[in-house]
Amino acid sequence: MSYFLDVVLPIRIERTFTYSLTEHQAAHLEQGMRVAVSFGKSKIYTAIAFRVHREPPRAYEAKPILEILDERPILSSEQLAFWQWMATYYMCTLGEVLRAAIPNGLLLETETTVHLSENDSIDDGALTDDEFLIVEALQLQGQMVVKDIMVLTGKKRVLPLLNQMVTKGIVRLKENIYEKYRPKLVKYLRLHRAYQSEEALETLLDDLKRAPKQTMAILAYFDRWSKDKKPIRLKAFEQQNAISKAVIKSLLDKSVFEQYSIQTDRVIFEENKSNADDIVLNPYQKEALGKIENSFGQDKVCLLYGVTASGKTELYIKLINQAIKSGKQVLYLLPEIALTAQLIQRLKTFFGNQVAVYHSRYSQNERVEVWQNVLHANDAAKVVLGARSALFLPFVSLGLVIVDEEHEQSFKQFDPAPRYHARDAAIYLAHIFGANCLLGSATPSLESFSNAKKGKYGLATISRRYGNVSLPEIELVDIKEARRKKRMKGHFSERLLDEMNNTVELGKQIILFQNRRGFAPILECTTCGHSAQCPNCDVSLTFHQNRNQLRCHYCGYHMHKPKTCEACGNTTLDTKGFGTEQVQEEVVELFPKLKVGRMDHDTTRGKYAYEKLITSFENREIDVLVGTQMVTKGLDFDNVGLVGIMNADTLLNFPDYRSHERSFQMLVQVAGRSGRSKERGMVLIQTYNPYHQILQQVSTYDYEAFFKEQSYERRQFKYPPFSKLIRVTLRDRDFNKLNEGAGWFAQSLRNVLKVQILGPESPVVSRIRNEYIKHLLIKMPFGNAISATKKSIKRVENSFDAISKFRSVRVTYDIDHI
Ligand code: ADP
Ligand code: ZN
Repeated sequence: MSYFLDVVLPIRIERTFTYSLTEHQAAHLEQGMRVAVSFGKSKIYTAIAFRVHREPPRAYEAKPILEILDERPILSSEQLAFWQWMATYYMCTLGEVLRAAIPNGLLLETETTVHLSENDSIDDGALTDDEFLIVEALQLQGQMVVKDIMVLTGKKRVLPLLNQMVTKGIVRLKENIYEKYRPKLVKYLRLHRAYQSEEALETLLDDLKRAPKQTMAILAYFDRWSKDKKPIRLKAFEQQNAISKAVIKSLLDKSVFEQYSIQTDRVIFEENKSNADDIVLNPYQKEALGKIENSFGQDKVCLLYGVTASGKTELYIKLINQAIKSGKQVLYLLPEIALTAQLIQRLKTFFGNQVAVYHSRYSQNERVEVWQNVLHANDAAKVVLGARSALFLPFVSLGLVIVDEEHEQSFKQFDPAPRYHARDAAIYLAHIFGANCLLGSATPSLESFSNAKKGKYGLATISRRYGNVSLPEIELVDIKEARRKKRMKGHFSERLLDEMNNTVELGKQIILFQNRRGFAPILECTTCGHSAQCPNCDVSLTFHQNRNQLRCHYCGYHMHKPKTCEACGNTTLDTKGFGTEQVQEEVVELFPKLKVGRMDHDTTRGKYAYEKLITSFENREIDVLVGTQMVTKGLDFDNVGLVGIMNADTLLNFPDYRSHERSFQMLVQVAGRSGRSKERGMVLIQTYNPYHQILQQVSTYDYEAFFKEQSYERRQFKYPPFSKLIRVTLRDRDFNKLNEGAGWFAQSLRNVLKVQILGPESPVVSRIRNEYIKHLLIKMPFGNAISATKKSIKRVENSFDAISKFRSVRVTYDIDHI
């Protein structure tokens, strides 16, 4: 009797692939287990078991699998259903979904590079012979690929062994290593558990009769403890009570006292852990909660539209509490940059160790750990707080999905496939589990708000900030006039400078927003207008002041800043536009006394660099924080009195149909960072165009007007949410071939689809890494059968692939392109 197994391979092949099994293997294997299989000439991959059956494949002879890697499945059946939906909906392969879904730490293959982990507590004695051999070789060589380890051990089947070693923390797989953050440790003192009863204490004091200083120390401890039952800091305790280190030491030696440490920025005391039941909602929050529960009752997705600082997070906490009380898992999805230490800490004060964080900047080991905790529904991951990739965790009893900042475009994955939108995928994931789904935002996307208006989603609104705090006042500052009258200092209008002075005098902090990183992106010759271009990509290089370099943001190409123009030879090179770095410099010059910090992509690379910046701003070590859109998200600083937007026009003028929506959202969000506590905050928006409708709508917080006008325009021009966009991308190194291929593809689509098709068109950046690019845009009016359309597109692709001269042209799809 022969048995077969269909597996999903982590590569871009259209279908599952079939291997043969022994009867024994067939009995053991379940869907969702990992198996090691060879594919192609010499490669070994970790694949996912999909289906055991009895029909041999027709087109090829099935090879046996090499090994079963798991005792139990590492995926839930719901998760596999989710993968299938994703592959179908986003027109990609299951293998591509697998790649995105499973942490690399669970996907060993022949080419994977292995290192020893820094873990210094490896006990040689506890290693098996093979493990010892590998550790020794790694100590000598630093790193090895799995292939070489196979040779070393003389075993073809090393994946299970290596998997074990990864789990035990002996080795780790190659990945980018981020800077390690060593948080400050503060030492605390507590009384040993043995002396917590009165009786034991009396005996102790009796025993210490001849040690009056020690007795004093213990009494002082009780005095201090009885005040507020808060952890006692060792240093302060010694100083305040004039107790010598020697006395403390002898009490520590006797195990009367114990010393422990808490990371200062992560202090969570069991004693004052907050209880979500104790949150008292204000009437607006209560009403919103009622609406949310009502739509959940009708199995509807609910949109929570609440202005900044209206207490949305507080509502989430209530809902999370309910879900985990009924034994369910919760997924709380956020854009990467909104996933701040602040928020993590806030949730941990309510849910303690039940909160797990899943983040692309976390190490493989950390990710594998969360994966296992979710799979086994462990307490340690009842609430998963994560960026979009957390959607792929193997939930087993998901009860609630929250998508915060649902309007954020960074929820859309661009490259590589699957090119999914995390909000939309989250809604489907919730649907698979029958879980409740809540979308939250202070500036909802046009899509979600129109779904709410149509009644497809429920809608809950909170239009006031919590605690009667007013929304900040927004003022538009015309810098065209100011420039003409030469009344600008650098990029600062007099109005902004005045307000900055006022704010500083009041002891408040300032945020300055400029949506561009780097010093001054482009170096241009003022004589001939030439700007240096990337040799690999069709874009201008941007100038980075601190390294004195020109760099390409697409491929990483860089060169030293030239002294003369490469086109005309003149030395009249100048920078055009301005970025955060330049704003920072100007502030330092204009306000030499102020401490200025900068938050952008360049200053937040390390794993904790971002958190450090936030902490020092919170601690008021920084007076002015200059930043890109990173400062717009989720941050809750209570001492910010002023937000200045250096130039709103670069946002508005972006050549893209969403730039108005995005500008509205970004400006309202960044404004929301101001005046979050009692006093009303101030926002100044500098612009050349103060009468722009979007800026007018921002300055009056008129979401409804914004929504109405944008909807009208989108309907006119048939853009989402009034149509669906599919973008087809074709790439090739040969421009002529690409040109011809794209023309053929477009024509064939036009022959079969009765919808509008734009292109082929060269994008703004028309060459990346030496590949030329063409785009087609398919605009489907609402109501068109999308799955039928996708099938037609696939058929066109198949014919395209059959034409030999087009074989090298790569075709990819972006469904719901934004
Ligand atoms: P949002 O998520 O809408 O921006 P938050 O939930 O962060 O708003 O609330 C803003 C501030 O108001 C926070 O400091 C929060 O702790 C406080 N807050 C909101 N609702 C309550 C409540 N019901 N009880 C106590 N504090 C609240
Ligand atoms: Zn480049």
